[in-house]
Amino acid sequence: MRVLLAEDDDLLGSGLRAGLRQQGFQVDWVRDGLAASCELRTGNYLVAVLDLGLPRQDGMDVITQVRAQGLRTPILVLTARDAVPDRIAGLDAGADDYLVKPVDLHELSARLRALVRRAHGQPQLCLTVGPLSLDPAAHTVTAGDQTLDIMGREYDLLHALLLNAGRVLSRQQLEQHLYDWGHEVSSNAIEVHVHHLRRKLPPGTIETVRGVGYIIHRQAAL
Ligand code: CA
Repeated sequence: MRVLLAEDDDLLGSGLRAGLRQQGFQVDWVRDGLAASCELRTGNYLVAVLDLGLPRQDGMDVITQVRAQGLRTPILVLTARDAVPDRIAGLDAGADDYLVKPVDLHELSARLRALVRRAHGQPQLCLTVGPLSLDPAAHTVTAGDQTLDIMGREYDLLHALLLNAGRVLSRQQLEQHLYDWGHEVSSNAIEVHVHHLRRKLPPGTIETVRGVGYIIHRQAAL
C-alpha cells in the first residue's frame, strides 16, 4: 500500500516513514503543503497522512483544495494534543480520520488499513476471492486451509489486485502501487512478479488482459 506522508518535522517524519515501512507500507515523504497537494493530485496514493501545520501551504488548505478538485483519496490528519478545533475543522474540510501526536504506529497502521478498506467498499478485514484470502493486518495469504508463501512485492501486487478485484490494473498502475520514490523499476518488473505469483496461487487466479494489464475477477472460477 502506497502512502503519502506530509510532515515538516524531520525527526517525526523520518520516524513515521521508517515505522510505516516496517509495517509494510510504501511511503513517500513530503515536508510542505504545496508538495503534498501536488503529490496527492497524481492519484498514486491509496491513503495520505497529513500534518496540519505545514509550511508553504497549510494542511487544512491542502484538504480543502484537493477535495474541491474531486480527489477522493482518504486523508488521515495528525494534530497536536490540545487542538480539538483543528480536528473538527480538518474533518469538516474533508479529512477522513485523525490521530493525536504522539502517534502509536500500530494504531496508525490499523487506521490506514481501515481507511483504504472503506474507500474500496470492503467491509471485511480480509480480502477474499474464491478460496483465496489475504489478511492485510497479519500480512498473510491463505488458499483454503493452506498458508501460501507470498511476501514482499508479490504480496503487494496480490493486495493491489484483490483490493481492485473486478477491475483491470495496468502495469503502470501496479508499479505505482508497488514502488515508492527512489526505486529503479525495471520495465518487466511487474511481469516477473506476476510470473512468480502465479506459480503459488490457484491456477487462473490472475488473468492477463492483453495490451491492458491484469485482473482478478470477483467471482474467480478457481
Ligand atoms: Ca508541523
